[in-house]
Amino acid sequence: MSYPHLLEPLDLGFTQLRNRVLMGSMHTGLEDIPDSHNRMAAFYAERAAGGVALIVTGGFMPNEHCLPPGELPVFKQEGAVEKHRVITDAVHKEGGKICLQILHTGRYSRTENLIAPSPIQAPINRYVPHEASEEQILQQIEDFANFAAFCQEAGYDGVEIMGSEGYFINEFIAKRTNQRKDRWGGSFENRIRLALEIVRRTRERVGTNFIIIFRLSMLDLVEGGSSFEETVLLGKALAQAGVSIINTGIGWHESQIPTIATKVPRGAFTWVTAKYRDHLPVPVITSNRINTPELAEQVLAQGDADMISMARPFLADPHFVNKAAANRSAEINTCIGCNQACLDHIFNGQLTSCLVNPRACHELEFQITPTTSPKNIAVVGAGPAGLAFATTAAERGHKVTLFDSATEIGGQFNLAKRIPGKEEFNETLRYFAQRLQTLGVEVNLNTRVTSAQLNAENFDAVAVATGISPRVPSIEGVDHPMVLSYVDVISGKATVGKRVALIGAGGIGFDVAEFLSHGDATPSQDIPVFMKEWGVDMTMAARGGIEGVSAQLEPSPRQIFLLQRKQTRIGANLGKTTGWIHRLGLMKRQVQMLAGCEYQRIDDEGLHLTVNGEPRLLAVDNVVICAGQEPLQELVAGLKIPCQLVGGANVAAELDAKRAIEEATRAALNI
Ligand code: FAD
Ligand code: NAP
Ligand code: SF4
Repeated sequence: MSYPHLLEPLDLGFTQLRNRVLMGSMHTGLEDIPDSHNRMAAFYAERAAGGVALIVTGGFMPNEHCLPPGELPVFKQEGAVEKHRVITDAVHKEGGKICLQILHTGRYSRTENLIAPSPIQAPINRYVPHEASEEQILQQIEDFANFAAFCQEAGYDGVEIMGSEGYFINEFIAKRTNQRKDRWGGSFENRIRLALEIVRRTRERVGTNFIIIFRLSMLDLVEGGSSFEETVLLGKALAQAGVSIINTGIGWHESQIPTIATKVPRGAFTWVTAKYRDHLPVPVITSNRINTPELAEQVLAQGDADMISMARPFLADPHFVNKAAANRSAEINTCIGCNQACLDHIFNGQLTSCLVNPRACHELEFQITPTTSPKNIAVVGAGPAGLAFATTAAERGHKVTLFDSATEIGGQFNLAKRIPGKEEFNETLRYFAQRLQTLGVEVNLNTRVTSAQLNAENFDAVAVATGISPRVPSIEGVDHPMVLSYVDVISGKATVGKRVALIGAGGIGFDVAEFLSHGDATPSQDIPVFMKEWGVDMTMAARGGIEGVSAQLEPSPRQIFLLQRKQTRIGANLGKTTGWIHRLGLMKRQVQMLAGCEYQRIDDEGLHLTVNGEPRLLAVDNVVICAGQEPLQELVAGLKIPCQLVGGANVAAELDAKRAIEEATRAALNI
């Protein structure tokens, strides 16, 4: 497939973008570490070399009302111009352009000094904001303009002004958070004054030949958000005030509707940008869950937007654009929307990376260099760990033979991909299959390998990536015919009744509950069904896209109990940025979650247990065991060849694909 719309340059008058692809803003954590500018330069330059037209940096905060106490904003730091020049020069050298995002976090700021239009606490922040005074408001405007002037001096091609996601500027725009009675609140005209003044003042300072992108909240997804008509008026006024491009913002951070997780259908919100495009006199960018060049091309071809913003897809594959341009899109390592190594890391105070590409944000330390002593390597197990090991070792010049007893590569990803909302996992398998082929790895499926077989061959080393076996807990009656393994349930080998108890509420217990509570509807594959399920009004008549709209959900075909022994909140160990979606989704399907369980026995009556000491009988048709896993290491005992355990075969506790891939990739770099 060719991508004429995606690869078409965009003329902004004073400057040209080489194609329609923008790398959206992501705070990666690189901003805050020693040597940050060199690391950022390497990170962004690799994306520019990969063909992205325009990069937006992670958000930089303009002053003490957002930053931790004592920290100066970048534009006031000594030597910052020179440091940021390293970044902008590196990007320009690769033919790309780069804007810095100025992000005023308003009432979401994690500092006691936070300000907002009104002193209304955000439901996701423990700090209550102070009401900004007139003087403070004027200073915020000045700080945006000063920051933009700094960016110009440091060689940036422009700035993005963050005006969405419920941050400071957005808080002024929406009635929900702005209850002021002065010239900055009350009427719509007053509420948008701050946004317009920031843009006007910034344009005055930087002149005409500098990109100003405004991230406009086109769908707030909270009550008390803006209406469609108001947002059109604001968009027009922003263009008049000097904005060059309008980017789409979807959903405030406090919104209870998923907007980027893997459960969200691909391209779920481009219809929103499309509704505004004809009304706005400047190019518009659409975003959210666009992760393939095919989809991006289609979105542009159908006229939804002038440009596509993708952020996480460039963590997964910096060379996305060049691969598409060279008709090699099957080689793209696709972002699966899991958030596990990007957003979850940031919220846990860790450096961003990517589950499918552990090199992301580690460009300087993580070099895939050719080996000086090529070996003949057997990799046993073609799950995520085996695939990562095999492809990395082959890329370094080793001769690699991969074995798996199954009929297809992928290991447990072949179960994960069957869970409603995890269809994206197919893409990782497609990517690895392509990579194995390109690198000439010999793949032997349907081949259960023993140590004796390996010893008899001429291998120099073995990577044991045999994964796990599901744990069978010692509960009386666990061998009763009603008891099923999650493997048989998800793979479709077992028939499951109408009433089900799931023993274990980890990631897999949640996924099995998701699997069993879905009927025929496929919200993750169908945008209107998804919007209906989460109560989003696609006519845009409702304020914020949701006010007064009730969610309509297909009822679960089963009564499900999700059980754990711990007293902690069920799902507490799920991903920080996605756990709430899993919990809310199951609660909407009336899945009953019980903590503090002690399992006593399983018999013809069902599951006998105590819940917080109280005896109960769950009269279920089936009990599904999702009680964790044990490493599968049977191969190691008889091996006479040097071997290395990776992934689940190494340690099964707290295993996930992120760890499996990273551990195996690093191991293959050192062999
Ligand atoms: P495995 O994937 O278990 O692969 C091991 C492979 O070795 C298998 O293909 C097996 O056939 C093969 N094998 C074993 N013994 C032999 C032998 N003797 N000879 C030949 N072949 C052999 N993780 C996440 O990070 N995010 C998620 O959202 C997520 N969702 C999941 C959902 C489900 C339903 C499941 C089941 C798992 C999920 N996981 C998820 C976990 C993730 O899939 C595992 O952590 C990952 O697959 C472990 O990789 P691995 O390569 O170590 O092992
Ligand atoms: P898990 O997360 O370790 O959960 C195991 C569950 O079984 C827990 O609820 C545990 O809770 C229970 N359990 C453990 N031992 C038990 C026993 N002897 N008897 C009864 N119950 C027992 O493991 P998992 O759900 O199998 O998932 C495996 C890995 O895949 C996870 O580590 C996870 O990271 C990954 N995964 C991730 C996702 C994701 O969305 N990120 C999705 C699926 C899987 P109690 O001990 O309190 O009963
Ligand atoms: Fe995408 Fe997951 Fe990688 Fe984040 S960690 S970039 S969501 S694949």
